[in-house]
Amino acid sequence: MTENLCIRCGKPRIAAKSWKEKVIYSGMVSVVEHTEYVCSDKECQKLVEKELFSRHQNSLKIAGAKLAREMDHKRKMVDLRLAKSSR
Ligand SMILES: [Zn+2]
Repeated sequence: MTENLCIRCGKPRIAAKSWKEKVIYSGMVSVVEHTEYVCSDKECQKLVEKELFSRHQNSLKIAGAKLAREMDHKRKMVDLRLAKSSR
């Protein structure tokens, strides 16, 4: 087992909760066990969650901007194609 240490303070993390989830993969049902680890330091864990949340929000923003750029690019391609075919 790999050591599970907090990304912020380096303290060992503890299993907060675990649950089993059924996964259907190519017709086979298998049960996957998930475990959520949290920092043993409650205050630190709060900060870690905050950090993860803002990072997640940020990555969503980046992904959204990228998608918007791609859509814009595609639209331009279509516009060009339309311009060509109308000639
Ligand atoms: Zn920590």
